[in-house]
Amino acid sequence: MKIAVIGFGAGAIGFINTLKTSNHQIDVFEKAKDIHSTSVSGIRADGKIFVSADMGGDLDVGLDLQQEVVDYYLSNIDCPVDKIERGNSFGDTPYYETFYGAGFNPIQAQFWHIGTDELKNVITNIYNDLNSYENISFHFNSQVDSVNLNNNPQICLSDGTTLNYDKIVLGVGRTGHRLVKSIINNHPEFIMENTKVDLGVRFELPNHIVDDLNKEMYEFKVQLRTASGYSVRTFCNNPSGYVVTEEYEDFITVNGHAKLKEKSSNTNFAILVTHSFTEPFNDPIGYGSYIAKLSNILAGGDKVILQTFGDFARSKRTKHLGRVTPTLPQDKYILGDLNLVFPGKTCQALLEFIETLNKVVPGISYQDNLMYGTECKFYSNKVTNKDNGKILFMGDCSGWTRSITYATAHGVLLAKSIE
Ligand SMILES: Cc1cc2nc3c(=O)[nH]c(=O)nc-3n(C[C@H](O)[C@H](O)[C@H](O)COP(=O)(O)OP(=O)(O)OC[C@H]3O[C@@H](n4cnc5c(N)ncnc54)[C@H](O)[C@@H]3O)c2cc1C
Repeated sequence: MKIAVIGFGAGAIGFINTLKTSNHQIDVFEKAKDIHSTSVSGIRADGKIFVSADMGGDLDVGLDLQQEVVDYYLSNIDCPVDKIERGNSFGDTPYYETFYGAGFNPIQAQFWHIGTDELKNVITNIYNDLNSYENISFHFNSQVDSVNLNNNPQICLSDGTTLNYDKIVLGVGRTGHRLVKSIINNHPEFIMENTKVDLGVRFELPNHIVDDLNKEMYEFKVQLRTASGYSVRTFCNNPSGYVVTEEYEDFITVNGHAKLKEKSSNTNFAILVTHSFTEPFNDPIGYGSYIAKLSNILAGGDKVILQTFGDFARSKRTKHLGRVTPTLPQDKYILGDLNLVFPGKTCQALLEFIETLNKVVPGISYQDNLMYGTECKFYSNKVTNKDNGKILFMGDCSGWTRSITYATAHGVLLAKSIE
């Protein structure tokens, strides 16, 4: 079979690695100019991989397959495995009870943190291996602009080239949301659920406030049901890490990562508010993009907004920072007011979450801790692969995953289904 894989991310890695010794001819189209160029993906930045039944995606991925995925990535590192940071979130620790008692739902997981620097070696090693198989051809600098499923499945590249395949496997992650949207606009039958948006901020504070927690479990992930009814959660904790911007085609958001060797003196993590809407709402990505664009507009076009927690709580524009030095370079943000970006209920939920967290981890709500906005998670358009012979959606663009482990495992499972 002739298969086009669009995007070379975590899902594609699982898919291609599973089929590398098959008879299928696989062409991989990646819009970035080489394997390392795209920054908007956890397999190029940070690389925290985990095994958890409770986070990372809504797919039924067994713990054994998750562990296989983790072992595969770890087998491609250059440094000794014992140099990789490891953690066990809310495993055998009194923190579970402390968070639970304050109203949080603590999420259990095992972590390995590869780090942005070592991740480069991992991706290089994986790519060199996959590229050595004759049935696999990589095409970089090849953005797929549209997919035509009417007759023979066909992809159209941005330079106007059209190519036909027996099957198209879409692994374009969150950055490929436009392509996914154009496909499901033409094929609404693929859409299963289309109502949720996760929006929030990247929170940054000095390491010493969260040192004990970081040492105990590296990643702490907790959820809280707030008075407004919104569920709020922490996500992607980066001890001694860096805040970065994520550049989409027409807006910019924030994210965070950490390196194995180079360390900052701050910790950052996302605080995300889940918004669930009802019919006729059907465009979660449009909604998230709109809010993100609003923050960019207020920040002068191509920047994000940075505000201290104290100013956020008082609905006051930040004009001066306090004791915390941002790890995001100064040319990427404008000091501003996130209350002008998020709806009121979202601001209330963020405030309640941070204040409740402060009861468990004193110092979280220090006035000069930093909030960057917006952080968005675009995983909400759940699509189906059932009864659909021509195109398969894999990884984050399918709406079923939101992590390296789950996206890679999704690729493995889809590959096995057509082996
Ligand atoms: C900064 C950052 C840090 C993260 N850190 C972590 C982490 O530590 N741990 C974790 O588990 N998860 C992390 N995540 C989430 C994780 O990266 C994703 O869940 C996972 O990579 C999804 O895999 P995927 O294959 O679906 O998409 P991706 O890995 O995002 O890959 C999609 C690929 O498709 C390409 N592409 C997009 N559109 C097109 C197009 N039209 N044509 C051709 N190519 C296209 C992109 O350039 C990209 O290379 C992070 C995400 C970000 C943005």
